[in-house]
Amino acid sequence: ALPVVVIAGRPNVGKSTIFNRLVGRRQALVADTPGVTRDRKEGQATVRGRAIRIIDTAGLEEAAPDTLYGRMRASSESAVATADLVLFCIDARSGITPADEHFANWLRRQGRPVLLIANKAEGRQGAAAAMEAFSLGLGAPLAISAEHGEGVADLMAEIVDRL
Ligand code: GDP
Ligand code: MG
Repeated sequence: ALPVVVIAGRPNVGKSTIFNRLVGRRQALVADTPGVTRDRKEGQATVRGRAIRIIDTAGLEEAAPDTLYGRMRASSESAVATADLVLFCIDARSGITPADEHFANWLRRQGRPVLLIANKAEGRQGAAAAMEAFSLGLGAPLAISAEHGEGVADLMAEIVDRL
């Protein structure tokens, strides 16, 4: 079976944009409005010559009303359990939110390997903003801008390193 990489994080941090970057096609629907139904959430990618399965935890926004935390967990639980690597994403522009912290704490207890990604870190201010993510206790954040393609090559190298 192919190694499984799961993209996780709260809504709107750019998970689907990262998914599309890795898969190389616009498979996941990217939208400004959280709550939009995502039609695709699994794809296959060849990253640095290595075939991997990528799961975008897109079901999150479709879940029935509950707490945000409950929906995040429900959406991610089964995917994270199967993950060889979890890409945990935060939004460097908005900074760390209580939802990020809550999710990071849960994720740490799952015992899966995690790569912390600070997305939306484009430009000069981006890298500095990304450093805030150190506080999550998930190691060094990798600053990228999925939308602008910055740091995506580094991300791919890091994924292959960790598998
Ligand atoms: P998801 O809910 O986590 O899947 O997030 P999406 O991939 O749907 O992206 C949410 C919003 O963030 C969209 O408007 C994207 O265009 C935007 N976005 C994604 N990546 C970046 C980035 O690197 N920089 C900026 N500025 N915006 C981004
Ligand atoms: Mg999405």
